[in-house]
Amino acid sequence: MTHDAHRKVKASRLKRNAYLYVRRSTLRQVVENTESTQRQYALRQHAAALGWPLERIIVIDTALGQSGASAADREGFQRLVTEVSMGRAGIVLGLEVSRLARNSLDWHRLLEIGALTGTPIRDEDGVYDPAHFNDRLLLGLKGTMSEAELHVPRARLQGGIRNKARRGELFVRPPMGFVYNADGKLVVDPGQQVQQSVRLLFETFRRTGSAMAVVRLFAGQGLQFPRRVHTGPNQGDLTWAGLEHSRALRILHNPRYTGAFVYGRTHTRKTVEGNWVTERVPRQEWEVLIREAHAGYIDWDEYEQNQRRLHDNCRAYGDDRRKSPPREGPALLQGLLICGRCGKRMTVRYHSRRGQLFPDYVCQREGIEHAEPACQHIPGAGIDEAVGDILVEAVTPVTLEVALAVQQELQSRLDEADRLRQQQVERARYEAELARRRYLRVDPDNRLVADSLEADWNDKLRLLAEAQETCERQRAQDRKLLDEQQRAAILSLATNFPQLWRDPFTPDRERKRMVRLLLEDVTLIREDHLTLHLRFKGGVHRSMPLPLPLRSWEQRQTSREAIAEIDRLLDHYTYPEIAAMLNGKGMQSGEGKPFTSRIVARIQRSYQLTPRYDRLRKAGMLTVEEMAKVLGLNSQRVKIWNRHGLIRGHPYNGKNDCLYEHPGDSPPRKAMGVKLSKRRLAAEIVAQRAEEVQYEA
Ligand SMILES: [Zn+2]
Repeated sequence: MTHDAHRKVKASRLKRNAYLYVRRSTLRQVVENTESTQRQYALRQHAAALGWPLERIIVIDTALGQSGASAADREGFQRLVTEVSMGRAGIVLGLEVSRLARNSLDWHRLLEIGALTGTPIRDEDGVYDPAHFNDRLLLGLKGTMSEAELHVPRARLQGGIRNKARRGELFVRPPMGFVYNADGKLVVDPGQQVQQSVRLLFETFRRTGSAMAVVRLFAGQGLQFPRRVHTGPNQGDLTWAGLEHSRALRILHNPRYTGAFVYGRTHTRKTVEGNWVTERVPRQEWEVLIREAHAGYIDWDEYEQNQRRLHDNCRAYGDDRRKSPPREGPALLQGLLICGRCGKRMTVRYHSRRGQLFPDYVCQREGIEHAEPACQHIPGAGIDEAVGDILVEAVTPVTLEVALAVQQELQSRLDEADRLRQQQVERARYEAELARRRYLRVDPDNRLVADSLEADWNDKLRLLAEAQETCERQRAQDRKLLDEQQRAAILSLATNFPQLWRDPFTPDRERKRMVRLLLEDVTLIREDHLTLHLRFKGGVHRSMPLPLPLRSWEQRQTSREAIAEIDRLLDHYTYPEIAAMLNGKGMQSGEGKPFTSRIVARIQRSYQLTPRYDRLRKAGMLTVEEMAKVLGLNSQRVKIWNRHGLIRGHPYNGKNDCLYEHPGDSPPRKAMGVKLSKRRLAAEIVAQRAEEVQYEA
């Protein structure tokens, strides 16, 4: 075997380094299993026996304390593969060498590269040359075996867990409100306070139908909810703290509160990026569901009803929440807004007014969790409009022209850099050629010189390869620059953008897509005014103050101008007259409607303008009764005289009720037999005088 080993390790390989790969899986093994460590380091002696000087045996043990199940987080194994692929490794040594990588893919990659670079692999059993088919077969098998070694116990464990779960006997961390008794049975927590807290939670949900309301009740009454410490020295202790929304939801969704035993509600899997994600499994696919396995807090029907309610609630609130692709709905910044006070993402809520949808931007995550008011709540319409204006202003042909000019400038500089890199490659090629010629010219018997010249040639070749690779890579990157056609497309976008943006037929979704092309995110702070921080793609920032949006009642307010006008007109005109005059001037009420006498009356009342009646009285006008007394008539007669112009009355409301100007020193008298229409002339004079009086007043 020693002979065989020496045959597989060629003399030329001794010039390269030997890599001793040492691996121990867990921290516990690191502490306890020192014997294996000693065995691994003993391999160093094997390498020395094969002819490697001790200083050329490199130990890689960076994987200490880490599991070998994947190469992704193991620097050591990566480094080993790199060294082998660069042809710097003369041999790879390891204890039970297939455990270098406990994953077939990693292992076979190492074998493949080892075969190409002629790197033998050595474990306690012997030396293998991956380039030989039989050796590779054996090595492959060893790799598969160690993967199986990992898999089989795990599968056995999983099988055991499943079996226990199927019988409903698996120990699962009890949900709050349950404990295991001395017989290992799950029972309702005998602690009265715990039990009542859980019962109160379910009762409140039964009454209100909302998890939020449950949290609000607990917070409002200053009630705390129990929780158990699961780790650390105080494991198993009971602590009390406020009830959070997420906790309440978890409890309401948990079927174990019906007394059922459930297994397989979630499923954990690994993503392409190497993260673990836990997914919820739909109820039909739960692995085990045993109803009435133990006592519970609610029955199954109630549980199902609760699920339906929660589902409906969640739909009612909409899931238009996180950073997300554009959805229907007019909120331009949906998914792009960040709260400037707490840094969380803000969400969108819509409210409808006069048949139109208006967005509100809300930061409510923390608020929901602890039943507190939302962190920020800002009507979105004004914000959307301001952002739209900025975008239209920012994306113009001029700005794009500048951007493209800069691009052009960069391009010419890149060409220059490319020429320089080409020259570097040429120089490297020349030097490699020089080294080759020097090597060929040397006397082959002069081994020492020949060897060093060969090494020099190799070095030069490597440098050449590197230079070439850098050059190619860089050029490929630079090639991403724009051609004429793309430039034209971008410029046309700039010209079309404002038009497209303002076109009422552009769907909201498209507009939102455009925003996403241009903006990274928008941060919003509400103080005595609003501040918007826009972050454009590419890192440009722009801050913008905005006045606080009007509250909804403020938006419906009548303009100051209209109110002043009404105040002025009330001296001389009635409500219907004023309404007609304002409409004639093209003015509108706060709600955007034409004025009516009812609206004018409401404005007079709500802005506490002096009523017309009081104004006329102040000007010395008499009521119908007073007038009747002055004239010695009954009030019916006063009105008739007024209609016929004998006296002058001023209507103070829409029903033709009047106040009357004082008839002066010589009031019209009763004149039996004379037609009222004939007497009007005399009255004109009286009226004029009365008017003068009125103006003085
Ligand atoms: Zn916030």
